[in-house]
Amino acid sequence: MDNSLIDSFLEIIKESNNIVFFGGAGVSTESGIPDFRSKDGLYNQKYDYPPEEILSHTFFMNKTEDFYKFYKDKLNSLKYEPNVTHIKLAELEKAGKLKAVVTQNIDGLHQKAGSKTVYELHGSVLRNYCMKCHKFYDAEYVFNSAGIPKCECGGIIKPDVVLYEEGLDNNIVSKSLDAILNAETLIIAGTSLTVQPASGLIMYFHGKNLILINRDETPYDYRANLVIHEKLGDVFSKIEIV
Ligand code: ZN
Repeated sequence: MDNSLIDSFLEIIKESNNIVFFGGAGVSTESGIPDFRSKDGLYNQKYDYPPEEILSHTFFMNKTEDFYKFYKDKLNSLKYEPNVTHIKLAELEKAGKLKAVVTQNIDGLHQKAGSKTVYELHGSVLRNYCMKCHKFYDAEYVFNSAGIPKCECGGIIKPDVVLYEEGLDNNIVSKSLDAILNAETLIIAGTSLTVQPASGLIMYFHGKNLILINRDETPYDYRANLVIHEKLGDVFSKIEIV
């Protein structure tokens, strides 16, 4: 590991009091949750249907039982724990340095680590609603139900997760944009930035320090003040909050 890069990273964190973190699947892979798009990830495992099709709105509506078979098997994040990156981010927020986490992940691990302001662009498995009466159900109820999870009114429960063919929540997008627009330091981590809206959102950043941490190169490396190609946990574990 290049220690001078880590030192620069720690220096920026120390000096900044308005940090926003933008994270992708790579943040949770170190907790054991597979990356949707990596070559050893979820999308290359074998099912009756390709995972992109299963996780679509049409599939949910037409083949709800098959959807839930896959969903309960593969997207149950209740059995995973936050890793050092989640924990350090929660500590930075508590110390008043970090203003928001914007994430593409749906696993709820930032909240489990103690983060309060988390903008989940793709929704969360922790929230579930009856499609008929809109009653709320938690993740335990859905993941522990047999077959299709049903509401007491008889309606089908749908996870508050943005499926393919569905639009993002405008309110979450605008809060994310606002946080990024006003940030002094933006840390982008664990995402290849090749998928929207990630690549679009970071164009709104006009602050002082843009930090990119990713295992592989990204198309935005040239825009960053600091680029670190290391494991996220190895970088974040160095942060000491005093
Ligand atoms: Zn209901």
